[in-house]
Amino acid sequence: MLTTFPKQSEFEKAVRLLDAMGLPCEVISPEPAYALVGVPALDIDVKTRRAFAGEFGDIVCSGWVDCVRPAVGVPDRSPPVFDEDIFGYARIMVLGSCSTDEGRIRVIAHISGDLTDVFPYMNARVKDASYNVRGSTFTFMDGYRIISAYPRRICVAKADEIVDAWRVLENVRLMANRVWGGRAEIEPSYELRAKPPAVEIYRRLPGINCRCCGEPSCLAFAVKVHGGAMDVRHCHPVFGGDYGHMQNNLLEICEGTGRSPGSDF
Ligand code: SF4
Repeated sequence: MLTTFPKQSEFEKAVRLLDAMGLPCEVISPEPAYALVGVPALDIDVKTRRAFAGEFGDIVCSGWVDCVRPAVGVPDRSPPVFDEDIFGYARIMVLGSCSTDEGRIRVIAHISGDLTDVFPYMNARVKDASYNVRGSTFTFMDGYRIISAYPRRICVAKADEIVDAWRVLENVRLMANRVWGGRAEIEPSYELRAKPPAVEIYRRLPGINCRCCGEPSCLAFAVKVHGGAMDVRHCHPVFGGDYGHMQNNLLEICEGTGRSPGSDF
């Protein structure tokens, strides 16, 4: 099983404890290329985690997922630094399995900078992005991965594994800083130019067609939410029932469509 940490000090505490207990672990490091967007991850087997569990209470980790071996390693180069750094550094606060894509992971990283001012410039540059000016969110795709950027946090859904998640975060860092550095040459755009298709909302609904929302099926509900005719919170199983774990993913994709609760329907 794999975990990472919101702080380097928590990772170091965990390693010291495992060492003291004589328990094995493997470290997967974001260094050098992704050092600014991650803290090392630990891969430990289930037996070790069980032995470790009681002692783990004092250590803050970001979550646990099944460990998938990275297909591509961390590049052997230092991360570029920027004179005007609008991103800062990122730390993964939440690590979990992707509820819509078994085997993939989802992370939420907090950043030390603030992306609010760069969003209109990124919106002018990134194809097929969705910019919600009111909610200050910027959503775009990296292959099949969905990236939702907020002023001080980045959510990545459907990353392959931890190294892939770091790669995506580093790309966001590079893009934000390069666009910010070149902003004198870019006309900022405040347009909502594109939005994820309704099927992306549908894929994040329970799919049980219970009709609690008043629609005959989850698909019909997704189409209405996508078109702005319904508030996503009318899905009772997710916002009050047994499917509460799907809330975050659903809200994130709705932010990308500009149809988040509280947005201008
Ligand atoms: S309430 Fe939710 S789960 Fe039930 S049909 Fe509507 S969208 Fe689907």
